[in-house]
This record gives sequence, structure tokens and C-alpha cells, in this order.
Amino acid sequence: MEFRYFRDPEGFALLVDSPQPCSVCSKVGVWFDTGGYPGINEIDCICEDCLKSGKLIDLEIEANQFYDDDSEESVTLMYKTPALPTWQETAWPLVNGEFPVFERIASKQDFESKDDFLKSFSGEGQEVSEIEWLWDRLPEKKLNSYKDAGDVSVYLFTLEGNKYWVWDAN
Ligand SMILES: [Zn+2]
Repeated sequence: MEFRYFRDPEGFALLVDSPQPCSVCSKVGVWFDTGGYPGINEIDCICEDCLKSGKLIDLEIEANQFYDDDSEESVTLMYKTPALPTWQETAWPLVNGEFPVFERIASKQDFESKDDFLKSFSGEGQEVSEIEWLWDRLPEKKLNSYKDAGDVSVYLFTLEGNKYWVWDAN
């Protein structure tokens, strides 16, 4: 599975537990769980091909919510990219007008140091001093799946080699 803005869907996208027919084309597999995707219509799951080809557009289901400016990039992010594995509606960061790639839920190993961690914070409406404590809550070891995340998750993104993160709590 390969997506422009989502590095590791097998590990970090919400998938159904066992093989099921895609709600759009009926092909059977372990597909993206769309039960939590907001929209006009509701479907259980969608396969990689249907998601990539934009089948959610006609269904008016938004995988990721973002201000829709009709650009190819925002349409790709909103309708053709797996949803971030968040508890709340965490917005995808925008960096200098571009969407960074979601890499994984972060651990301490994803950063060189606490300073490196703090300087790549890209959430809005918070000072770095308010979220310093998050460093101590980061898992020590690299995560392979969103299922390994705790009650607090740091979502790591990259753009042109730079790191960015936002966070969310259960
Ligand atoms: Zn399908």
C-alpha cells in the first residue's frame, strides 16, 4: 500500500480486523476501517484501489478533514488518503502551504534529543513550554503499529527532511 501523504498504512491506518468485502467494489481483504470517517454517507470499509481512485468523493465521506480549496493536494488528502489514527479530529498540519507526510506515531527514537523534539512541534494555539511534558510520555522504543500507542500520541510528519508533529490524548 502506497500513499502520497501516509507512509505506513499497514502499521498506522485503522484497518478492519479480518478480511471483509470492500463496501464499494466488494473485493475481499483487510481494508481501511471507515466506520469513523465523517460524511454524508456511511460505509464499513474501503479497499486501497477504491480509496486511491477517489470513491469517497461521490460518497461525500472525508477521510481527513481539511479546508477544501479544490486543489489536487487537498482533494488527495481529504478523500484519497487514509485517516490519521486519532481520537479527536486532529488536523493534518500545513507547512508553508504544503502537506507533510504522516510517518508514524512517534517514540523517543524518532528524535535526536528533547530539543529536537520541541523544536519540531507544529500544533497551533500552544506554546512549547506547555507541551514540554510530552517528551516524558513518549514511548522509548519505536512503534510498529498504532496499537502500541498509549493514551497520548505524538503524530510525526516529515516534509523535505524536516520533522513536524502534533499530538492528541485519549
Ligand atoms: Zn474497493
